[in-house]
Order: sequence, then C-alpha cells, then structure tokens
Amino acid sequence: MKYVSTRGNAPALDFEGVTLAGLASDGGLYVPEAWPRFTHDAIAAMAGMSYAELAQRVMQPFVGDCLTPDRLLELTTLAYGRFSHAAVTPLKQLDERQWLLELFHGPTLAFKDVALQLLGLLFEEFLGRRDDHLTIVGATSGDTGSAAIDAVAGRAKVDIFMLHPHGRVSDVQRRQMTTVLAPNVHNIAIDGSFDDAQATVKRMFNDAAVTGRFGIAAVNSINWARLMAQVVYYFAAALQLGAPQRKVAFAVPTGNFGDVFAGYVAAQMGLPIERLIVATNINDILHRALSSGDYSAGSVTPTAAPSMDIQVSSNFERLLFDAAGRDATLIATQMKAFEADKVLQLTNAQRAHMGHLFTSARTTAEAMIASQRWAFDACGEVLDPHTAIGLDAARAATGLPADVPVVTLATAHPAKFGDAVQAAIGQRPVLPERVGDLFDREERYDRLPGDYEGLRDYIITRATPRHV
Ligand SMILES: *Cc1c(COP(=O)(O)O)cnc(C)c1O
Repeated sequence: MKYVSTRGNAPALDFEGVTLAGLASDGGLYVPEAWPRFTHDAIAAMAGMSYAELAQRVMQPFVGDCLTPDRLLELTTLAYGRFSHAAVTPLKQLDERQWLLELFHGPTLAFKDVALQLLGLLFEEFLGRRDDHLTIVGATSGDTGSAAIDAVAGRAKVDIFMLHPHGRVSDVQRRQMTTVLAPNVHNIAIDGSFDDAQATVKRMFNDAAVTGRFGIAAVNSINWARLMAQVVYYFAAALQLGAPQRKVAFAVPTGNFGDVFAGYVAAQMGLPIERLIVATNINDILHRALSSGDYSAGSVTPTAAPSMDIQVSSNFERLLFDAAGRDATLIATQMKAFEADKVLQLTNAQRAHMGHLFTSARTTAEAMIASQRWAFDACGEVLDPHTAIGLDAARAATGLPADVPVVTLATAHPAKFGDAVQAAIGQRPVLPERVGDLFDREERYDRLPGDYEGLRDYIITRATPRHV
C-alpha cells in the first residue's frame, strides 16, 4: 500500500514511512492511494472475532508488507491487552434506537488510547529496524497529549514534546500529562488556544531547518496510523448490531475530524454505514461546512467540551480531497487560500459527495446538559460533555430508516471532566482505580508564550538529532 499527499506534491511513502512522518513535505496530509474494500462475505466472516483479531484483519490492507499478519496480531494483542474491559470497546444500549460505544477503557480514559497504544508500539517496531531517533511534537486539547505520553513514556529512541493551551484543559487531563516524569517527556503549557498551539506545531513540520536535523513525527490525527486504528471500532460496533446485513448510523463528537473521518474510511471499505452525524458544540465550523458549504474559521470559544473547541479541523482536508475526486491541485489551492484568509467555500461537487453520508449538528451548552440529564435519568448513564454532545446530535437526527440503530461514540470517561459532570447532573463521577494517585503526584511542565521561535529553540536544545 502506497500513501500520497492530499496536495499532490510530496513523495509517496509506504506504511512505515507515513507512520514515522508528520505532515507531507508539501503541507498536505497522507492518504492511501486507494481505499481497500472488503466484500459482504469478508465482513460477515469478521463476526465473533476478538477485538485484537478484528483490528489485525481491518488494518492489514493498510499496513501491506510492512508487518506480517502474525506480527500485526502480536502488536494489536499487546496494545488492546492494556484496556480494562475484555470487550475493549463495549457497546451499551440506551433505548430502542440509541446505543453508546464506550471507547474510554484505555489507560488515560479517552478514545485516543485506542490508536495511541498501538502507535507507540509501531514507533518502537519501525525504529528498531533503523538506527534512528524520533522527536514527537504535538499539540493537544487535552486527551491526545495524555494518551501519547502514556504510549511513549520511557521508550528508547523517542522524545516527546507536548503543547497544551495553558489553563484550557481539565485538571485530570493536565495531571495525566504533567505527572509523567520520564526523561523523554517534555510538557509545555503555551499561552493561547489549541488552534494557536496546533498552528505552531504545523509550522515546525514545515521548517526544513528543524526537519533536516531531527526526525520529527506527529501523534496528532494528521498521523495516518492513528486514523487507521480508529476504523476498527466502527467495524466492531456495526458487527455487534447485525452488519453487514443491517445498516448502522454513528454520531461522533468532533474536533479535528479524525474520529469521524475513520468512520468515512470504514464506509469506503464496504461497511454498510447509513449515516455519519458530525456533532459539534458552538465552535461549529464543521457544522457550517457540512450544512452550507462555508468552511470559515472564527475565533474559539472555550466550552465544557474542550476537545471540541477547535476551529481548524486538520483532517477535514482528507475529506475535501476525496470529495473533490482526489483533485490534489484543487486542494492545494483551496488550502493555501484557507491558510491565508481562514475562508474556504466548498465546491458543489464536494458538497454533493459529503451529503451522501454526512449530516451535522450544533449543540449548545444547555442542550448538552439536557442530554447528560436524559442519559442519567432514563438510563442511569453518566456521560462526559463530549459524549453528551454526540448523543444530543444522535437523538435529534431525523429521516433515518426505522430499523437503523444509532451509535454515539463515547469518547471520554466522565471522571475526566468531573466538574462539568457534577454541574450537569449533581453527581461527581469517581476516577477509576487504574489512574491511581493522580492528584498526589508531582507535576512538571514549562510555560512558554507560544511564539514560534521560542518554541523552536526550546525543542532544538533538548531533542536528540537523527543518527543519519
Ligand atoms: C479528541 C476528542 C474528541 C474529538 O475527536 P477528533 O478526532 O479530534 O474529531 C472528542 N471527544 C474527546 C473526549 C476527545 O478527546
């Protein structure tokens, strides 16, 4: 399997290459050159597999020759063995139509673990084949940072520099990052929003003076391997609910458009998905893009669902590319204009393509709380704010055939956002035992103003150069 850039002007890479890469050198994102497709019978044959087996089966076409099926199965068995639930991503029924897919049983209590536990192992595997060193630079709205740090802390040949917006992540999220004291972990709080942090990181990926000396890699969902690992749970849920004989819809609380793009990939691979419902909070650029073709970034308003407080959704570029019939020249033009003016108007062809599978919704703070209360009163379920926004969009969806179940992706454990949950339902969720004495541990991080040069110098003086 070869991977190509959405902007058409970077070398094609194999799976090992894209796993260790950041952005493509032309500023685009890597995508498989074609979507692998499973037949109806091949999907039917996946019923009853363990999660680790299913993961191997779904991901093998993307991995190609870079890992044998046996080795890939060993890695998925290791990665998902660290989850605290034997089903890995258990499915829960709420009412006759609504279901929750719990993706938060990994070590750091959010769905990011599903991909990052595997990515940590893939880094180690591929670096072991080369005499090389990796410098991970990432920006986090909270959950990616903790999941990535857990996945690589203490590993040889990897340094991680993780930026979070100062004061805009929850206490649990921050502590899950800053209490990891392994010497290869560097936490940086920057002044500004997540979008500011992400823009700084993107600039570094395009800075030849840095990328020439250091092996800079991404753990944000611009990294293809992350999206690939997320495709698996769409298969897992749909198979439980009767796929491939029956269609399923998914509601996905969305920020950087990575999680829901994985659902799009599942559909391209032949999984019968009736609809993907893109759930946003009041930072609604994706809702505006999908409902009226207007992809233009405003400023970010902080909410109780910080992982969705995003106005620039990196992975939307991957969908724009596919929806434009893979016209890389058009995407390069559209994205250059967006980077300059923060405004992008979708073409009619792009809108039509997206309209076949996607709808969207925007949930206010009041509706989010109402959703948390409904789940608690009607089903005894305690939902984190992100999941509650997804469920609000799922319950508001209209026009779905009566026999199509709607699965909301439960993206974080409620205890990660204890204050917001308590404010909504009057009960404080308990932190699971596996996170231990988080609030008693020492914290370590540096605070930087967020200008590019300051960050670059900070990283250059601490990172290990490539060995080539
Ligand atoms: C990261 C995150 C999201 C958004 O996922 P994207 O892949 O960025 O769209 C939603 N909810 C939670 C809890 C998250 O951590």
